[in-house]
Amino acid sequence: MATLLVCSATDDLSTLCSALEAAAAAPEGQVRDLKVVLWPAAFDPWDVVAVAAWNPPAGLLPALPALKFVASIGAGIEHILQCPDLPEEVPITRIVDTQQAQGMAEYVLWAALHFHRGFDEILARQTSRTWRVPPQAAASAFRVGIMGLGGMGTQVAKRLRDNGFSVSAWARRAHELQGVQTFAGSTPPAEFLALSDMVVCLLPLTAQTTGLCNAEFFAAMKPGAAFVNAGRGQQVVTGDLLAALDAGQLRGAVLDVFDTEPLSQQSPLWSHPKVIVTPHMASAATDASIACQIVSNVQRVRSGQAIENTVTREQGY
Ligand code: NDP
Repeated sequence: MATLLVCSATDDLSTLCSALEAAAAAPEGQVRDLKVVLWPAAFDPWDVVAVAAWNPPAGLLPALPALKFVASIGAGIEHILQCPDLPEEVPITRIVDTQQAQGMAEYVLWAALHFHRGFDEILARQTSRTWRVPPQAAASAFRVGIMGLGGMGTQVAKRLRDNGFSVSAWARRAHELQGVQTFAGSTPPAEFLALSDMVVCLLPLTAQTTGLCNAEFFAAMKPGAAFVNAGRGQQVVTGDLLAALDAGQLRGAVLDVFDTEPLSQQSPLWSHPKVIVTPHMASAATDASIACQIVSNVQRVRSGQAIENTVTREQGY
């Protein structure tokens, strides 16, 4: 029987597995004779048409001769592309979810309000019981620079714009978004960095974005600006970020993603007075939504239709 294999070398995907079973069995799923198997339970490799994965186990994917696609269970796909034995021709899909993007918009709006209204200063003064109003201004006086204008970045830009913030955004290709100043190119434009009061990283992890936020990057930011990372931890050189914070070049940082997750108990980020650490919770799609998208693609494969939300391997997202 055709099989959808759910696997991860690092995470427990049993709840997602149940959601996939429910989606496959739902009347609207219309996937007859589909078995959902949670690796490492027994399966016939010749039956596996699709894999739903987070960090696929080594050796598994090349052993599946009938594989039609590999589905990332998240918005990012680097954990699949980094798989050393990923078969060359198999398409990769990812999750694209409007609710998830709305969650990201809420997270970044919270960070923008935190810095724009001076809540960072207020919290720092509370320990000394100091009653002092930080400088207050209209949201339009605070410019947020967003790196990445895809599913996440676009919703974030719109939410900030609609809340009165000035918004700039940078992506590889040219984009037009009403009320948002956009930049295109392979490196963050100097003007973009120099004018933003808060820079937000919403980029996928690729060879080009790994280590992008380094000493040079932070030095090019507006003095006293804030930094938010909700992309991937490997995009930031942590030592360079800490140096920029300690030197006063940056006012503060909100970090949701880290090189190693969970963040090590020994990390200096936990106790840095200018850093807010959140546990990779900026936004997530529900298991039901993830399952629905993956089962829909299985259905498409089996009825000869093109699958949706595929990525371009060469560009890495
Ligand atoms: P998309 O693929 O929809 O968008 C990626 C955007 O990044 C595009 O605008 C793309 O440019 C731009 N981009 C990619 N590479 C570069 C580069 N080298 N220079 C400039 N711009 C670049 O991804 P999503 O918006 O859906 O997600 C982005 C990332 O956010 C995910 O890969 C994941 O790592 C992270 N994420 C984090 C979550 C969390 O909870 N912390 C939740 C969800 C996602 P162009 O438009 O020109 O192609």
